[in-house]
Amino acid sequence: MDRSNETDRPPTAVIQVDVDGFWAVRRCYGRGGRPEDEDPVYREAVPALLEMFRGLGISATFFVVGADVQVPWKRKILEKVLDAGHEVANHSFNHALQMGQLERKQVESEILDCQQALIEVLQVQARGFRAPGYSCSLPVLEVLERNGFWYDASLLPTRWGSVLRWIARRISVAPGSPVPQFGARRNRKSGIGPFWTAGGAKSGPNEKLACQIFPLMEVPVSVTPRLRFPMHGGIGFLLGKRYVMRAVGAIGRTVRFLNYVIHGMDVVDGQRWPVISGWGQRWLFGGSGATRLKFFTAVCSHIREHFEVVRTDRWVERMRKGG
Ligand SMILES: [Zn+2]
Repeated sequence: MDRSNETDRPPTAVIQVDVDGFWAVRRCYGRGGRPEDEDPVYREAVPALLEMFRGLGISATFFVVGADVQVPWKRKILEKVLDAGHEVANHSFNHALQMGQLERKQVESEILDCQQALIEVLQVQARGFRAPGYSCSLPVLEVLERNGFWYDASLLPTRWGSVLRWIARRISVAPGSPVPQFGARRNRKSGIGPFWTAGGAKSGPNEKLACQIFPLMEVPVSVTPRLRFPMHGGIGFLLGKRYVMRAVGAIGRTVRFLNYVIHGMDVVDGQRWPVISGWGQRWLFGGSGATRLKFFTAVCSHIREHFEVVRTDRWVERMRKGG
């Protein structure tokens, strides 16, 4: 093997956007809402992100919720996402946060109902899936494998899941309302770079045999290599540009694969569109939409400079053909 070529090649990055409608974000914090309601995520954030990606020449992956796909005015915006050359992937039908704990049948309908909506409304056969709330589970992986998906991107391989859940509980209004999983305890030691799954059992990235039997790849949400602290989306915005840039650099040097995740809600103006109220709102969703967009533009521009940025489905396709 030509080693000089290996080291010259830039590391790979995928940029993924969770297009959770405003109603879905509010439900994450125990509030109400319906997919048909006025929605700044679709109305403002998605067009702003499309403009940002166009300016940077980046093709990204947009994970969408089936219930949103069925709303006619939202469909028009998703058509623009496709026209711009981005990938559209499956983010379940109802955005049920506790997907990891659902019965197998319910998991199946959450995934397949969204898949059906994408096919019927957008004529898209989604190759990838992310469970709401990062609730990766064995039934999820099995349903994906059985239904011909290429990859799952539900895994958040952090050690800090319990801390993040505690914070989410503190700012969620209704006691006992569902809280994102933020990575199950067992995930704290799983791979932080992509790997082939074998019937849900974790294997190394080069296990060709596992790949032939279960050609489903796990593409985890990137965390910092040593402390495994999240650095994506709103968490990264809270911790600041310096922290995120350093994390991106460390991932590029060690893992050589970055999955940088942004939520549509991350670029919505929190003053005009409150998700919750009080200090939680100011802390989690503070900063104007313009400030937030500037932050993510700087991070994505930095990623584009140091990585080869590809659509997730195209990268996985390349790996399925043997790299
Ligand atoms: Zn989501």
